[in-house]
Amino acid sequence: MDIAGKNVIITGGGRGMGKQFAVDLKELGAKPFVVDVIQENLDALKSETGIPGAVLDVTNEEAVEKFFEDYTAENGAPHALVNNAGITGDALFVRKKGDDIKKFAYDKFMKVIQVNLVGVFLCAREAAYQMIKNDVKGVIINISSISRAGNLGQTNYSATKSAVDAMTVTWAKELARYGVRAGAIAPGYINTEMVAKIDKEVLDKKIIPQIPAGRLGEMSEISEAVKFIIQNDFFNGRVLEVDGAQRI
Ligand code: NDP
Repeated sequence: MDIAGKNVIITGGGRGMGKQFAVDLKELGAKPFVVDVIQENLDALKSETGIPGAVLDVTNEEAVEKFFEDYTAENGAPHALVNNAGITGDALFVRKKGDDIKKFAYDKFMKVIQVNLVGVFLCAREAAYQMIKNDVKGVIINISSISRAGNLGQTNYSATKSAVDAMTVTWAKELARYGVRAGAIAPGYINTEMVAKIDKEVLDKKIIPQIPAGRLGEMSEISEAVKFIIQNDFFNGRVLEVDGAQRI
C-alpha cells in the first residue's frame, strides 16, 4: 500500500514510540490521527507537528466503537491502525522474602490485560469493521514485544504480548478474504520513557549486556518496521522482530 494520503490511526501516540510513528508517517505523506488518554500530550503533539488527536481510553468498548464511527464519518475508514498503546505493571509471580510470601496482585495483572490485550482487540475489531464496511483494503499493526517469550517479572505483560501475536495470526487468516492484513512488530528494548523507568543500574549492568547489538534500539528503527508493514502487501500474519539480536 502506498503510504501517501492514507488514513492511519495510532493508539497511545501522545508520546513515546506512537508519537514517533505519527511524525514519521506524516513525513511520508500519510494522514496520521492519534488517540491517547492525556489531553495535554495530544495538545502538545498538535502544536508541535500539526497532527490531530483525540482522547480515547482503548479499554472502553463503547468509547472505542463511537470513536471509530465518528472518525470514519469524518475522514473515511482508516487504511491502517497501529495498536501501540501499552503499559507495564511488573511484579514477581510469587515471592518469598524471609517469612513473607507476596503474590502477584490481581488488579495489577488485570490492568495490563485490559490495556494491552482488550484494548488491542477492541481497536482492531472496530478498525476491521470500518475497513470491511467501506471496502477499504487496510492493515492492522499490533505492537508486541520481545517479552512475549516470557520474561521474569512480567507475567501479565508477557501474556498480553504473546496473545497479541496469536490474535495477529488469527486476524490475518480471517480477514485476508476482505483484503485486510494484520502484522505485528516485537521490539526489543527501545530508548523510550518506558525503558527510562527501568533502574539505571539494571539497564547498564543487566539489560544492555544481553543485547548483542550493544545498545538500545531507537524509536526510528521501529518506525521503519511500521512503514515496511504498511507498504508490503505480501507481509501478513507474521511478527517482525526488531531487537538487536537479543533473546529473552
Ligand atoms: P509509552 O508509555 O511511552 O507510550 C504508551 C502510550 O499509551 C502513552 O501515551 C500512554 O498514556 C498510552 N496509553 C496507556 N494506556 C492507554 C489507554 N488505556 N488508552 C489509550 N492510550 C493509553 O510506551 P512506549 O512508547 O515505550 O511503548 C509503546 C508500545 O511499544 C507499547 O505497546 C509497549 O508495550 C511496546 N514496547 C515497548 C518497548 C520499549 O522498549 N519501550 C519494547 C517492546 C515493546 P500515558 O501517557 O498516560 O502513559
